[in-house]
Amino acid sequence: MQDAPLNIHDILRFASVAHGSRELVSRNVDEPVWRYDYARAWRRAAQAAHALATLGVEPGDRVSSLAWNTHRHFELFFAVPGMGAVLHTANPRLPEDHLVFTINHAGSKVLLLDRNMAEIVDRIKGQLETVQHYVVLSDAERMVDGFECYESLIAAEAEDYPWPKLDENAGAFLCYTSGTTGDPKGVLYSHRSVVLHALAAGLPGALNFSAFDVVMPCQSLYHATAWGLPFAGAINGVKFVFPCDRFDGASLQQMIADEGVTFSGGVPTIWTMYLDHLAKTGEAPGKLQRVIIGGSAVPRDMAVAFDRLGVAVQQIWGMTETSPLGVVSTPTPALAALGKDDENEVIWTRQGRMMFGIEMKIVDDDDNALPHDGEQSGALMVRGPWVLERYYRADASAIDAEGWFDTGDISTIDRFGFMRITDRKKDVIKSGGEWISSIDLENIAAGCPGVKVAAVAGVYHSKWEERPIMLVEPLEVGSVTEDAMREWLEPRIIKWWMPDRIILGAVPLTATGKIDKKAIRDKYGQVLAEPAT
Ligand code: ADP
Repeated sequence: MQDAPLNIHDILRFASVAHGSRELVSRNVDEPVWRYDYARAWRRAAQAAHALATLGVEPGDRVSSLAWNTHRHFELFFAVPGMGAVLHTANPRLPEDHLVFTINHAGSKVLLLDRNMAEIVDRIKGQLETVQHYVVLSDAERMVDGFECYESLIAAEAEDYPWPKLDENAGAFLCYTSGTTGDPKGVLYSHRSVVLHALAAGLPGALNFSAFDVVMPCQSLYHATAWGLPFAGAINGVKFVFPCDRFDGASLQQMIADEGVTFSGGVPTIWTMYLDHLAKTGEAPGKLQRVIIGGSAVPRDMAVAFDRLGVAVQQIWGMTETSPLGVVSTPTPALAALGKDDENEVIWTRQGRMMFGIEMKIVDDDDNALPHDGEQSGALMVRGPWVLERYYRADASAIDAEGWFDTGDISTIDRFGFMRITDRKKDVIKSGGEWISSIDLENIAAGCPGVKVAAVAGVYHSKWEERPIMLVEPLEVGSVTEDAMREWLEPRIIKWWMPDRIILGAVPLTATGKIDKKAIRDKYGQVLAEPAT
């Protein structure tokens, strides 16, 4: 057989031929909605590659983007790796010292930013050690002083590019984990890992994409390449709708209605806002058929709310280190035979089902493999062609002698191959020798009317070692009280899981939209140690 390397830019090359006229629509910062197709995107990717080469970018170099979900960012997803360089998708929601750390650690020559990132960049510029060019992803009319202009740079360039055949193991994307403790850690995706991941992600046993889908990625392009959607979608010729940075309910609803979005995905917080918008306005989700939700556990009631609107929810689990798809919730005949209610229950409450390409096992404290009975939980280990081997520029490997990577999550796996996360190892609450799952508690609490998000953390307790406290952020001022919360929880949880303290207040989130447990423990770690007043 031919030894043809798997190269990322060949995905867009293919889409430009096989799905050339399929539309791509994008919002942009303060610009009219942009519309074009795969054929033109491919030509513009060539122009972008030429422009970067003119700026001095060479194969092996790194280029950082600080950009939202837009068509220009999408083009760079192919142009930068395609020319043999590496795209570091910097996360603008990171604390600034971490953002600076990631760009310096990547050693990027060029920084491409959206217009409304100029302020951040002006503040951190002095600390960036390797960046030589700052390019704003904008047309010439709306430029920011002191930066180079993307549209002006690419305008004069040729619309074809001598795309090289690259070693498929060469680096292509550099994504950093948000590093709630310590410095962020870089994961360097290769051409091979991205293409294999994209092929698997589009399968019916995963995201089930076809050219009839209209896909709006609401997970950020800088968060693990928006879970690989740009690649899996382009392979299948989907119409893409890019929402830029406007993830509020009304903006999403407008794009869903105007563009006929059938499929979307993102972290739970975005969908809480979207469902709230629909509840308030009485609007319907139009042609939206499916939403994939992951990054944190999907509250069961969120899946039920979508189901009532005729939208199917699929939960996914993954991490930056797994490119990121690890499991996706999809039914099987054996599960369907149990009846719709039981099938829904499993699909709604499990993180997902094994997919080809990611091997999984759960182990106890002595590294013994545990049975897949859906009951016993252990440390979740994974391995496969799109799982990390070592962090970027790290000396030591991150996997054991057999290739297993410890995810830091605790989970069960059941007889149908469904995996269920009970907690992150560091978030497990140990109360008097027993475990309390913070995820289960949060999940139940999120279903209480008037709750926007509920967070549970274990804090010091002199008698029980640790006890849970719950921080509840109401949807609106006064939409939920401590008593209402207790009444909601009481019939739904084991008695001793009841949080020792329920606090109403803002729930801190990390740069990737997850509950920031460390911040909660830092702030409330001693609340149970104080004498009761
Ligand atoms: P970061 O730590 O930078 O936010 P990741 O996105 O890589 O970055 O986080 C991965 C972690 O997110 C997983 O290890 C897991 O703990 C959590 N996670 C992802 N998807 C889910 C899910 N569906 N349910 C529960 N936890 C999830």
